[in-house]
Formats: sequence, C-alpha cells, structure tokens
Amino acid sequence: MNLTPRLFKSYASRNVNNPRLRKTFRFATHHALEKRLQLVQEVPEWEALRDRAHQIKEEVIDHLDFYLEGLETHVTANGGKVFWARDGKEASDYIVKVARRIRAKTVVKSKSMTTEEIGLSRTLEENQLEPVETDLGEFIIQLAHEWPSHITAPALHKSRGEVGELFAEKLGIPYTDVPEELCEAARKLLRSKFLKAELGISGVNFALADTGTVVIVENEGNARLSTTMPRVHIAVMGLEKVIPSFNDLPVFLRLLARSSTGQKQTSYVSLISASRQPGELDGPEEFHLVILDNGRTEILKDPRMREALFCIRCGACLNTCPIYQRVGGHAYGSVYSGPIGAVITPLLQGVEVAKDLPYGSSLCGSCSGICPVKIDIHHMLLWLRQQVVAGRHTPWQERLAMKLFLAGMSDSALYRLGSGALRLAVRLGGAQGRPLKVPGWTQTRDFPPLAERSFKTLWKELEKTEAGRAHP
Ligand code: SF4
Repeated sequence: MNLTPRLFKSYASRNVNNPRLRKTFRFATHHALEKRLQLVQEVPEWEALRDRAHQIKEEVIDHLDFYLEGLETHVTANGGKVFWARDGKEASDYIVKVARRIRAKTVVKSKSMTTEEIGLSRTLEENQLEPVETDLGEFIIQLAHEWPSHITAPALHKSRGEVGELFAEKLGIPYTDVPEELCEAARKLLRSKFLKAELGISGVNFALADTGTVVIVENEGNARLSTTMPRVHIAVMGLEKVIPSFNDLPVFLRLLARSSTGQKQTSYVSLISASRQPGELDGPEEFHLVILDNGRTEILKDPRMREALFCIRCGACLNTCPIYQRVGGHAYGSVYSGPIGAVITPLLQGVEVAKDLPYGSSLCGSCSGICPVKIDIHHMLLWLRQQVVAGRHTPWQERLAMKLFLAGMSDSALYRLGSGALRLAVRLGGAQGRPLKVPGWTQTRDFPPLAERSFKTLWKELEKTEAGRAHP
C-alpha cells in the first residue's frame, strides 16, 4: 500500500467494506470519546481553557519570528544547538551528519509525528543506521512496515491477535494475544536497544520560548529513556510548536491529556532545557533542536489556513469524525489523518495531490466543536474544496454540470427549459425513478432520482383542484 493521498477514494471504499476494521475503529474512537467526556465534565472552566489556548496560539502564530528567535537564543544559551531545516531532507541530512560524527549505529526514537512526516526512519536505514521506534504503537507499526493510522494511537487498526502474530513472526516468541505478555516482549527487546543506542531522537509537544525548554508528554517512559540514555539527544519540532512561556504550559497540558488519551495528566511530562551539566550524573552530552519548516511558512502566509498551525496533535477530531470512524486512518494516505489531516495534507503536499481529502467530511462540525484549541476545521475544509474547484482539479463533466446548474439557478426561464429537457432525457433513456449519474460527482454521492413532475407543475395542479372545489 502506497502512502499517497491520491488514492483516498479507493482506500476509503476498501476500508468501509472491511467489517473488522470498522468495528475496531468504532470501538476505539468511542471508548476514547467517552473517557474524554467524563474528564472534561469535571472541569467547569473547560471552555475558558480552550479560549485561552486559542488566544495563546494566535499570539504565537502572529509573532512566530519573535518567539522562534527567543527559543533559539535560550536553547543556545543553555548549551544546545539549534538547526533550522527548510524541509525534510535538510532535517534528515543534519541528523545523519550528527549520527555519523558520533559513530552511532543504533538510534532510539520516541513517538514523533514530525519525524514520521519527513520519513526519518527510512533515511536512517538508507544510511546504515538502525532506527528503533520505542513507543509501543510505533514499535508495532515499524515491525509491520506500516504507517500510523492515528495521531496518538499509531497501531489503532491492529487487533491484539494481529499484534500477537506479528510478534511471533518478527520477534520469534510463542504466539500470545495477552496484552501484558506482548508488552513484556517489547519491553525486553527495547531495553537492550536503549542500553546500546548512541543517539536518541524525540519529537516535541511544546517548546518554551522564554527558557529554551522542550516539553515531551507520554505514558510509557520511552521518551524519557530515549532522551536521557544515549550520548546525544536530537529533538525535532515543527516550527509551530513554540509557545511563549512556562506560564502558558499548564493550559496546554490540561487540554492535551484530556483530549487525547482521556487522562487528567499523562504519566510522564519531561521538560528538557539542556544537555548534562557539569556535576550531573546522567543525561546526554549533547542536545540538538531541529526546527522544521517543511511548508509551514506557506500555511502561515494564508490567513484562512494559518489556524491549522494551532494544532497540538491531540487526535480528538479524529475520534469524533464520522468519516474517520468508518474509513480509518490509512485511507488518508498521509501520516496525518482525520479532519486535521484532511486540512494539513493538502496544505503540505498540494491541493492537486490531496484534492479528495477535503471532501472526506460530512461538514457536521464535530471536529471544530471538540478541538481543544478551537480550530475552525470544517470551515477550512470547505475553503479547501473551493480551492480544488478553483484550481480545476475536478472532472470536466462535473465542472460542466455545475456550470449548467449555476446558469439554471440564475435564470428562471433557463431553469424551466433545462429541467424540462433533463426530465425528457431521463424518460427517453428509461432512467425514470433511478438515481442520476454525474461522472466524478456521483462516484461518492447519491443524486436522488428526478421527480416525474416539477414542483411548479404540482402547484398548478393543486391550484386547479382548489379552484374546482371553490367553484363547483
Ligand atoms: S485539530 Fe484540534 S482536535 Fe484535531 S488533533 Fe489538532 S488540536 Fe486535536
């Protein structure tokens, strides 16, 4: 299966016809939503927190240069090294260069959507390095040679039995589908990798501009091990991850844990400001922060789309989306799936490449309603649809049909003429009572059968009947 959003329609139709997959996604997303709801109801100031987070993100994105420079200044003052990467290649090249300099062989990685976005593991393998995903979900999909199907739960699509079969095949252990035994097998293997890795790579949940601190939240402790045990730690962040100060952090921590995993707080919150300091017993000798653009400054330029950079990758919009629940994450053909993936992927890869994703939405607005930072996701999807049409990325038959429809709706005489002609064509073609077909447009939608008589005709008939009753 290729990682391309071009195949969204075919992936989606294959997945909706897979009852096991639909059951897995329905169960997992509903369970996450229930947990979230319970905890959110305990926070009376939830809406105020969302408003505050939106304000903070707005302030940062409006003054991104200022906050990023502040971050760089403080990271550098703390002894770290900042690398600005224009794209995935620059980021990967830098990381490979560091790995070569320290003669690294094994690289432990903690969960990071940004490194997934740039395909870092593949580049490391191409350079004879051994990348090891240490988050359990990421570890599973690395073994299976797949990509994440959810922002926070990468192996959501896999059943316990499938994981058991995978572990038996790849790790050579007896088959089991008992979660504790599967975890134990992964833990055993990963411990040995932590002990021998020379380089640790992590993502970043938030980066504090006023102290140069990167914040990583997680539940398994693997990020803490990845960032403290190897000799060198490289943190990779999209440039939108910066927030102004330490004082803003609690707002996001409260929102993120509840929205993503339905927890009051994640098990681990690591705040990393520097490498090991003189007199300290542990921690890495070097700390690098890679700040990645990869199309984000283009998003920044677009006032209608820049809110996409507010995303804190909680995954709540995926859980609540009726489309995601039915088609699953892999259908999107991108590491970013669900409603926010349908926004980000066309922005990062081009509307022409991902033109079907903005249509993968019922526009119910549930995503916007649940988003902890109040991103107006469904209106952004609507705007992207306009871009798809404006860029002439729809089939010509659909464009023609829409033009005729527009002309008909703007002129009553034309409307009468057109609908009469269409009715006649349907009758002559023997398609009476059957759904109409507009190439492209009706591939993924229903066009109800044309009524035998128009509303106007029915109205006239009614008037006649009424008149007959009044004057018998
Ligand atoms: S768009 Fe909002 S709800 Fe969706 S992942 Fe991002 S922060 Fe979470």
